[in-house]
Amino acid sequence: MKFPRIKLHNQILIGLILGLICGLIFGKNIVWVKPLGTAFIRLITMVVVPLVFASLLVGTASLGDVKKLGRIGGKTLLFFAVTTIIAASIGLVLVNVVEPGSNISPETKALLMESFKDQAAVKAEHIQKAPSVLEIFLNIIPSNPFASFSETNILQIIFFAIFFGITLTLIPNDKAGVILKFFEGLNDVMIKMVLIIMKTAPIGVFALIASLIGEFGKGIILSLFSFLMVVIVGCIIHLLTVYPLSLKILTSFSISKFFSGIRPAQYIAFSSSSSSATLPVNMQVCENDLGISPQICSFVLPLGATVNMNGSALYQGVSAVFIATVLGIDLSITQQISIVFIATLSAVGTAGVPAASIIMLAVVLSAVNIPLDMIALVLGVDRIVDMFRTTVNITGDACCAVYIASSEGELREVKNNNQ
Ligand code: ASP
Repeated sequence: MKFPRIKLHNQILIGLILGLICGLIFGKNIVWVKPLGTAFIRLITMVVVPLVFASLLVGTASLGDVKKLGRIGGKTLLFFAVTTIIAASIGLVLVNVVEPGSNISPETKALLMESFKDQAAVKAEHIQKAPSVLEIFLNIIPSNPFASFSETNILQIIFFAIFFGITLTLIPNDKAGVILKFFEGLNDVMIKMVLIIMKTAPIGVFALIASLIGEFGKGIILSLFSFLMVVIVGCIIHLLTVYPLSLKILTSFSISKFFSGIRPAQYIAFSSSSSSATLPVNMQVCENDLGISPQICSFVLPLGATVNMNGSALYQGVSAVFIATVLGIDLSITQQISIVFIATLSAVGTAGVPAASIIMLAVVLSAVNIPLDMIALVLGVDRIVDMFRTTVNITGDACCAVYIASSEGELREVKNNNQ
């Protein structure tokens, strides 16, 4: 089944802008709309597990070619790795040039530490339980797929779905056909559900943004203004240079068509701060509006939503150097280069949920011997920067999907995507 086109770009944008205005005007008095936003996020998140499993299984089984799958996997991971390293490097260059940490007065620092020390302690505790690199790889193999489903462990679901899809091609057709038909049906139902849920997106986005802005204190924004600006400008530079250049160099895909096609997914990412929650919408627009084949979408996008976090790597690099500067620690070039690689690796381990980077930031900080409770310095504005880094994260996934589809001849012509 083809994804019908969504005609919601502009309604969602209006919801976003209205949310911003109402949040600014009504402040805390608008926070009552928050449950509408939460309901919307829960609705799209509800679809993630069955959609990823069914679409990837059907995609793998119909691809029927393990070699092709390996080739696509290799190219995808290489694209993710290179763009993440570039993102972390952009962040480091910017933070070294602007030095937002040197503007923070001792009073502001003391105030931030005091206000966020308890939250920071809770986050820092998580890091003690962080798995080793070997464990991260072993954890991709599920010991119980049903547990993977119930815990929304996307990497394990991807592993099981691909293994299932390949094995399906190795059993007799009379049995495989029945299973395949079932999952094709399930996939179609999930796609339809996304379309129905997306009709409520303008309200959901409005409620998310209005309640978020309403809850926020202006003071914290002002005290960390230059830090915020470095992360936001870094994200915008990455978004407007690395992806257009990748499309130009690696494909013949129109850059304006790319950006206008993925707008709905960017709006959802921006208002939800969750790559996982945005996944169903990203899959929909990539197939529908960019013309990427379902096989490529169902492989590249769930993988990307889990391991490809360009914006998060940029953010983690900037934050580590920012915190070091506030503490008066001078990081050597070698330490800064190691931050790029650690931020790249820790971005892989960052889950596609709000504030996940804060936990992984602790990994980066401990690598350069900065006390973990110092994350209190950046916690106050995390939700704001999360909106930007998540938007970059999902745009990177879509850009990679275009590249893979174009290199594999899996792009179809879409005539009018400005619905
Ligand atoms: N919220 C981000 C995402 O879902 C992860 C993070 O950087 O916190 O992509």
